[in-house]
Amino acid sequence: MKIIKQNLTAANNLGLESKAQFFSFFNGSDDLCKLHAEAKKIDAHVQIIGAGTNTIFPRAFDKLVIKSSDKSISEKKVKNNILVTAGAALIWDDLIDFCVEKKYCGLANLAGIPGTVGAAPVQNIGAYGVELSDLLEEVLCFDLKTQKEVVLSNSDCVFSYRSSIFQSNPHLIILQVTLKLSSEFKPLTTYKDLENTNPTDEANFVQIVREIRDAKLPNPTDFPNIGSFFKNPIMSDKDFHSNDKLQSLNFQVLDDGNYKLSAAQILEASGLKGAMIGNVGMSSKHSLVLICNGLCDASNVKNFEDLAKKTVHDNFGVILEREPIYL
Ligand SMILES: Cc1cc2nc3c(=O)[nH]c(=O)nc-3n(C[C@H](O)[C@H](O)[C@H](O)COP(=O)(O)OP(=O)(O)OC[C@H]3O[C@@H](n4cnc5c(N)ncnc54)[C@H](O)[C@@H]3O)c2cc1C
Repeated sequence: MKIIKQNLTAANNLGLESKAQFFSFFNGSDDLCKLHAEAKKIDAHVQIIGAGTNTIFPRAFDKLVIKSSDKSISEKKVKNNILVTAGAALIWDDLIDFCVEKKYCGLANLAGIPGTVGAAPVQNIGAYGVELSDLLEEVLCFDLKTQKEVVLSNSDCVFSYRSSIFQSNPHLIILQVTLKLSSEFKPLTTYKDLENTNPTDEANFVQIVREIRDAKLPNPTDFPNIGSFFKNPIMSDKDFHSNDKLQSLNFQVLDDGNYKLSAAQILEASGLKGAMIGNVGMSSKHSLVLICNGLCDASNVKNFEDLAKKTVHDNFGVILEREPIYL
């Protein structure tokens, strides 16, 4: 563990020019104790980053930026389940490959999501009808406030749609994540895009999901992006039915009676698909994906975000909520 100056331009998916005066990798609680002491000495807050696929980086960090280097994987059979524990630095899709190899089932709907294992609980990653919270057993964290390790159970994480306890408690550094998987292949294909698929085994299901994603989403290597930029709006039955402008839109009624709308459809209907201000705008391939196409920084992203939100509000009376995080 060594604190160094680091260029982070290649470490964020939007490719925004970014530097950290103080940066260090860490592996485990001992490193974090030392880094916490160093941060105090230089009077800086600690900022954890993963693969930078859901974050908007500043030009210069005034914090001590830290990144896990733990890519470990271990497994334990408990009754009919397999508990797989992975280090925070492991790439999520590498964990999917590991589980496919071992014939451990349950994660296929989440195949192809970029980023690290350590960041997955932060926004409770989800896709094609499954969320991380459906499979998560526990999270091992280091609490920077108490300087102690703490194990959070699934319910301790207070998961909901793209949300968890970690978003409002940045002092909790995720060290390892444990998932509860099964050796039985029971594919969940109820989500619209998967309805007509007939996966034969977990490996085949993962391949199907990856192919669907590749066909739909702009490739970050061609168009730097951080995935969905806005969350799908969720509102009460009353709010939905009292707004005439929403009645022609697609919606899904959730188990709790609330209505979930499609942010992509709303953005497209507001004329924002493919719209750009300078080098920042919404992809012409997928209206929910913000892309940066050349020289720009976080302030250009924020400028576009504000205009998109205002346009949607003027057109539909809906307040869009951003998914990625400004660091
Ligand atoms: C093309 C594309 C498609 C995507 N598709 C999906 C999708 O289908 N579903 C979905 O849910 N998301 C999707 N995303 C978003 C992204 O993949 C996830 O949010 C992912 O979990 C981010 O991982 P990361 O390592 O890049 O995190 P970062 O962007 O580096 O960090 C995200 C947040 O997590 C925090 N964090 C990171 N590591 C830790 C840690 N060890 N402990 C505590 N906090 C930590 C950071 O401080 C930050 O607040 C997509 C992104 C892209 C670019």
